[in-house]
Amino acid sequence: MHEVATKAEVPSAIRPFINGRFEDSRSASQVVNYSPYTGTALYSFLAGSTDDVDRAVTAARVAFDDGRWSEAPPSFRQRVLLRFADLVERHAVELDCMDAREMGKPVSVAFCNSAMSAAFLRFCAEAVDKMSGDVLVSDVKSYISQRRVPCGVVGAIASWNFPAFVALLKVAPALAAGNTVVLKPSEISPSSALQLAQLAVEAGIPEGVLNVVPGIGADVGKPLSLHGDVDLISFTGSTPVGKQILAAAGQSNLKRVVLECGGKSPQIVFDDGVRLEVVASAIAASILRNQGQVCSAGTRVLVQKSLERRLLDALAARFQDVKVGDPLDPQTTFGPLATRSQLVRVKGAIEEAMSAGATLEVGGTEPYPHHDGYFVRPTLFSKVDHRMPVAREEIFGPVLAVTSFDSAADAVRMANSTDFGLSATIWTKQLQTGLSVAKKVRCTVSVNTGEYSGEGARFASTSEPAGQSGFGAEGGIAGIQSYQRRQTISIFHG
Ligand code: NAD
Repeated sequence: MHEVATKAEVPSAIRPFINGRFEDSRSASQVVNYSPYTGTALYSFLAGSTDDVDRAVTAARVAFDDGRWSEAPPSFRQRVLLRFADLVERHAVELDCMDAREMGKPVSVAFCNSAMSAAFLRFCAEAVDKMSGDVLVSDVKSYISQRRVPCGVVGAIASWNFPAFVALLKVAPALAAGNTVVLKPSEISPSSALQLAQLAVEAGIPEGVLNVVPGIGADVGKPLSLHGDVDLISFTGSTPVGKQILAAAGQSNLKRVVLECGGKSPQIVFDDGVRLEVVASAIAASILRNQGQVCSAGTRVLVQKSLERRLLDALAARFQDVKVGDPLDPQTTFGPLATRSQLVRVKGAIEEAMSAGATLEVGGTEPYPHHDGYFVRPTLFSKVDHRMPVAREEIFGPVLAVTSFDSAADAVRMANSTDFGLSATIWTKQLQTGLSVAKKVRCTVSVNTGEYSGEGARFASTSEPAGQSGFGAEGGIAGIQSYQRRQTISIFHG
């Protein structure tokens, strides 16, 4: 074991963190978590219960209603959130190791790691005293203002693919907006969320403001989304579960819902002088980091026919050039999938693509020798018809489907031909092509860059999904405002 690995300790226990302290779960069933790297059992914990959720929501409700956070001076909220960000940064290695150990994200991958989470938290903290409302135009005898107020108790339900980052993607704007929170991390990766809650208390966030209930979807996520005292559910996860959350909101108290769900994001490549090496590296990075378990991964390539073969060769070389290994080893660039069921699902999707007639360029289902964990090879398919499942359905693994097109109109049609609408990337030498295609694709678009780039693009920009990728703003000031509602106060002063 190398040095960083020894820091990957699970906190004293995986238990509910309510009112600033660990409590026992009142659940009768257990969850066993396995190491994705070895396939052996790591630890077990209780699956959570409606009673755990009730206790956490009550704590968050009391903390909201007595104003210890929502009515505290903005300078206080800002100061402790900045201190929280400092602590997250200081504990970033430890948090990354917890996530790597539980779900396999290599510690070498900076994308959405804990240092980035701390930077996002700092952005939200800085915004606390810069938020404003409106004073409306009115007649001379009245005064009409609209202020933004917190929604109340926020239930945050997170996915496992970037455990610490996704937790803070919800907790940071919810707290910056003045709410209290009950966070339900994924059962696959609960440790970093519990560590974050302890750091929040250490930073000075009052007890009861951030509570965490670990457990499974049926026993914790469902009662949280049905709870009559939760005012907003912010969910990151799959589209099918997102639909259940929306139904639960309707069945219960009509709580607000923010849904960040699945994707099938296109990478559109024009043969108009683009730099093949740059494009191939960016596309490979997008689908291979975190083993393709990224909601916005560019999982399908639409390439102009004349460039197809050269791009496939450049991609194949990169797919074979990964450093496979222990996610806790800083040299590893490609780790295992998170769970055995992920492995079964991804292998099934590869087999389905082959039987549908797609051409396997590299990869496939053959296991890596000397690796017992949940590994699957980076897999590249060509000759993919855009109607095949491999081009339409979210696989959530390192599987890339390449389809060729003749005209920009074809590319746009295929780009929009899934149920999803999360993100797209366009590679072109002609800015006119980039902009005109971007305007026709129904999601967040990057042109000639693998990630958002440029100042302001990282945390200040807002993503808003389309179609069955969900709805609601995340990131930027608008993302903080997702956790607020407008209150109008009109005064007739005569
Ligand atoms: P998932 O939908 O299986 O689980 C997400 C969370 O919901 C977990 O905490 C789970 O326990 C909980 N849950 C399960 N059933 C529930 C129920 N009936 N009621 C309430 N909660 C329930 O998703 P996952 O496998 O954890 O994550 C992968 C998915 O997340 C992918 O589809 C990916 O695209 C998506 N994702 C989206 C974004 C985004 O920003 N759009 C970001 C990351 C991940």
